[in-house]
Amino acid sequence: MSDLLNPEKDNFSEEELRIEEQFRPQSFNDFTGQMHILDNLEIFVKAAKLRGEALDHVLLHGPPGLGKTTLANIIANELGVGIKITSGPVLDKPGDLAGLLTNLEENDVLFIDEIHRMSPVIEEYLYSAMEDYKIDIMIESGPNARSVQIGLNPFTLIGATTRSGLLTAPLRARFGINFRFEYYHQELLSTIIQRSSRILGTQIEEDAAIEIAGRSRGTPRIANALLRRTRDFAQIKGSGKIDHKIAEFSLSALKVDQNGLDEMDNKILSTIIDKFKGGPVGISTIATAVAENIGTLEEVYEPYLIQEGYLMRTPRGREATEKAYKHLGKIKANPQGG
Ligand code: ADP
Repeated sequence: MSDLLNPEKDNFSEEELRIEEQFRPQSFNDFTGQMHILDNLEIFVKAAKLRGEALDHVLLHGPPGLGKTTLANIIANELGVGIKITSGPVLDKPGDLAGLLTNLEENDVLFIDEIHRMSPVIEEYLYSAMEDYKIDIMIESGPNARSVQIGLNPFTLIGATTRSGLLTAPLRARFGINFRFEYYHQELLSTIIQRSSRILGTQIEEDAAIEIAGRSRGTPRIANALLRRTRDFAQIKGSGKIDHKIAEFSLSALKVDQNGLDEMDNKILSTIIDKFKGGPVGISTIATAVAENIGTLEEVYEPYLIQEGYLMRTPRGREATEKAYKHLGKIKANPQGG
């Protein structure tokens, strides 16, 4: 059940991701939160439109499920241009990228999700496209093979990543605009949940929306997923309307605890406390102990546990905080051994 709270796209079926599409806001006005991004972005978009130029390349980074793909689509909508969508792991050969780039119309957006997972060959190929709107392509083969340079229409590359630390410096330097997504506060998530309920045609009481929001790890993708599950409970066990009681009932049936921590969060914290005396302990040791991969721990679990004050990142490793001990009902041993 803990997977419910893992917002990584890989954790969602294609069907679920397709359902998610209907919740996507289409314009800046429709997009809730991330004001530190929107305030600036709206100006950059207006200015680019006024000049009739392509918007500078944009890097969007932050944990999964916070709206990076959504915002990339909104940027294209607001610019009034087309968007082509791909992802780092899908781009296998330079030819794949060349095909996309040469098909872009003037000022279009090319969105590359998981841009940190692009191969170095593709990445290098992207440099001249980003900088000069030019690429080299190989024509013919065998002894006649040669490379020719072709010009591209001006375009905007929007890259999204959950691991900006893995981007190479030259790639990062080619993005003129760089935004970090933050987790959403409970009230904002509650607004998002109420909006999604309207789209689903389900009635929800405000305190129920707030309850679901408080357990969604600050993440719209999780909020929407929990809303859909809660709606199932409301239909089968209740009147169809989501009230506070049915929300609480469903969330506890789904094993989502009061603080929005799931089984894996609790396992990470109790492992650090019980097996490693509260830390500090290295991330790879934790990963082995809880049988989860390091990437998921670093991208999904750790940022939320740190932001909520359960975990600290120190130069010597991860440490459980007082709040973690309290949450698990454990007593911190005296470091002097007393
Ligand atoms: P990411 O690309 O960061 O993983 P997505 O853009 O795919 O995240 O968003 C995941 C889901 O959450 C989508 O269904 C989207 O509609 C919803 N969502 C994300 N941000 C917002 C927001 N600010 N307002 C409303 N819904 C949002």
